[in-house]
Amino acid sequence: MNKGTKILATLGPKSDTVEIIEGLIRAGANMFRLNFSHGTHEYHLQTLTNIRIAMKNLNTIVGVLQDISGPKVRIGDLKENYELIKGDEITFVKKEIIGEKVSDKKYIMSINYPDLLDKVKEGEFIYLYDGTIRAKVIQTGREVIARIENNGVLGSRKGINFPNTVIDIDVITAKDEIDIAWGVENKVDFFAISFVQNKEDMLHARELLNGYNGKLIAKIEKFDAVENIDEILEASDGLMVARGDLGIEVPYYDVPTIQKQLIKKGNAVSKPVITATQMLLSMTTNERATRAEISDVANAVLDGTDVVMLSEESAIGIDPVNVVSTMSNIIKKTEEIYNYEKQYKMDYLDQFDVIQATATKLADDINAKGILALTSSGQSAIRMSRYRPRTPILAFTHKKKVLGSLAIAWGVTPVSTIKEAQSTKMIYKMLKSLDERGMLDRTGPYVATVGYPVGMPGSTNIIKILNESEISYYLNLPANKKK
Ligand code: PGA
Ligand code: MN
Repeated sequence: MNKGTKILATLGPKSDTVEIIEGLIRAGANMFRLNFSHGTHEYHLQTLTNIRIAMKNLNTIVGVLQDISGPKVRIGDLKENYELIKGDEITFVKKEIIGEKVSDKKYIMSINYPDLLDKVKEGEFIYLYDGTIRAKVIQTGREVIARIENNGVLGSRKGINFPNTVIDIDVITAKDEIDIAWGVENKVDFFAISFVQNKEDMLHARELLNGYNGKLIAKIEKFDAVENIDEILEASDGLMVARGDLGIEVPYYDVPTIQKQLIKKGNAVSKPVITATQMLLSMTTNERATRAEISDVANAVLDGTDVVMLSEESAIGIDPVNVVSTMSNIIKKTEEIYNYEKQYKMDYLDQFDVIQATATKLADDINAKGILALTSSGQSAIRMSRYRPRTPILAFTHKKKVLGSLAIAWGVTPVSTIKEAQSTKMIYKMLKSLDERGMLDRTGPYVATVGYPVGMPGSTNIIKILNESEISYYLNLPANKKK
């Protein structure tokens, strides 16, 4: 059984070789994430090359997502680690200094975006070290003074969050611009933009693609992104529920409801959603996941996420292949109780949607082995995915760029094909390429959708049922035999 929900695995020092990447794909990984918060361009280029070699070796398609690091706000260097006690005071200064303890209960330090200090107001909260230490702002002005509210150890360059402050900075840094240019040059399929606040951030990212048709994923990890979700979704090709930073920016108990809300919004408009961070975190060091993690993955699947993501687990963990197969097993089992019926209650997005809705329902009703969807822009396959059919969607396209971008869509398997002018020949080509890959069940039935004339986006206008005799007819077409 094929799984519908996709797996996005972050690659890193424990998983960047061709051999491991092949293992990850066999175990069920559909996309790989290159995390530009770490590593040099040379490093990522080597990893990307290895992904492409693995794809070729296994004759399969995976998507590549470049995660752009964005403006991670951090404190500056500290002389040493400090044990902060409730009631201690930190003075944040605008100039760059080595932070230190200045007297019994007082510390002084800088942050890497000093202008933010102008936006902070008295009474707001500041979180240090990934949310572990909370401080309350007691004085603003040229410097910001905050009082520590709970004990904790603070070290150099730890993250700092301002969950009550609209920061309004350009979320695409100078480094990000260079990194995005790298992604365009090396033709990655997806760019994930971090710390997005509003639609302008996504439009700016789109400009930087310079016309390159990469897909833009908005990482939702700031409280203002949650507030501006509708306009952000409109300007993006997909969303990531980036629960790590999000869980600091909003109250921790809001994260599950925000996850469900974002998935619902993405599903409604046919834009893929990735659920990310800490899904199987304990497997970074353990062979078996915790029960809570297993349930987390299963519940994300039931929420309707398109993709579940692995971070440290697959990048620096003890056994990345084991992590992916664990995730894959959870998905397959959970999809046995998936709410496929919800598709029948969905509204059409527009008049063209009628054909995708009809084809998916037809395929499910006749218990088809697959839907053969011929698509040039990828849109018709993504639209079918929105209806969550039981039947696997095999998306055929001659456009290399489109293939990788379909890896994200729930239930869609991208298959490369050669463009033909006639719809009969296209059906033959689709059947033949499946047959050659050993993926065709010659007894059928299949449902095929083709647009005529072939290759015109949005023109899908033929739905065909291919049963056993028809499949053998197509496979034996004399005109095609010599090809
Ligand atoms: P990150 O994004 O791993 O790049 O921080 C994901 C998250 O914040 O959850
Ligand atoms: Mn993040």
